[in-house]
Amino acid sequence: MISGKIEGNAAQAIRAVVEFANLCTIEGRAVPEKQGQRVRQELIRDLCVVASGTRLPASDLSILLERAKHLSISPQGYDAQGGAVIYTFSYWNWAAMCSYQVLVLDAARRDGKYFPGDLRRCRLDSCGRFFFMSDLRESFRGRPRSTYCCAEHMLAQHLTTSADRVARHRKRRRAARLDSGQDESSLGGVELLTRIGCDDLATGQDVSVDGRQQMPAISRSG
Ligand SMILES: [Zn+2]
Repeated sequence: MISGKIEGNAAQAIRAVVEFANLCTIEGRAVPEKQGQRVRQELIRDLCVVASGTRLPASDLSILLERAKHLSISPQGYDAQGGAVIYTFSYWNWAAMCSYQVLVLDAARRDGKYFPGDLRRCRLDSCGRFFFMSDLRESFRGRPRSTYCCAEHMLAQHLTTSADRVARHRKRRRAARLDSGQDESSLGGVELLTRIGCDDLATGQDVSVDGRQQMPAISRSG
């Protein structure tokens, strides 16, 4: 049982829970694996549902609400400069805090565009980090990224999934012995990617690819 308190505005409290999902730490403090593992697994499962834009089942919502009742939220001040109420979030167990923030995120996700409704999960298999689209300063051609937490991970995933296509393409071209006198070695990188169907990489657009992470298959204990 992890009890404690978090002081801060609503956004900071949400970020503390997302940090726990990503790193298994609470405000930078490592949570012992034995204590946090189960809560974290369920949190990740719920955030996957929210980040995908799917509604949480009614049965899950009622469990989350029951757990969230072990949290007390009391206003402590007002940040006049930032324009935010400062709260103390006191939790008897950390699951209460996580459950409450999942409900907040589920409600916010219905608008979808702005923090905290813009929660997404990185689709790079080796990452899977949750992030808020509005936190990504750069974007490709003005479009905010929705599928990868950073440009490096978009490229890494695309290169992984397109490596086979590149190999197959080169094999076909060699076999065909095209008499145009031009082979792929004389093509620019972008032209080659376009020819083999990697338009997303060639144009820098952020698109969905196969390789989406499977949600952890765990059952919720009542
Ligand atoms: Zn990532």
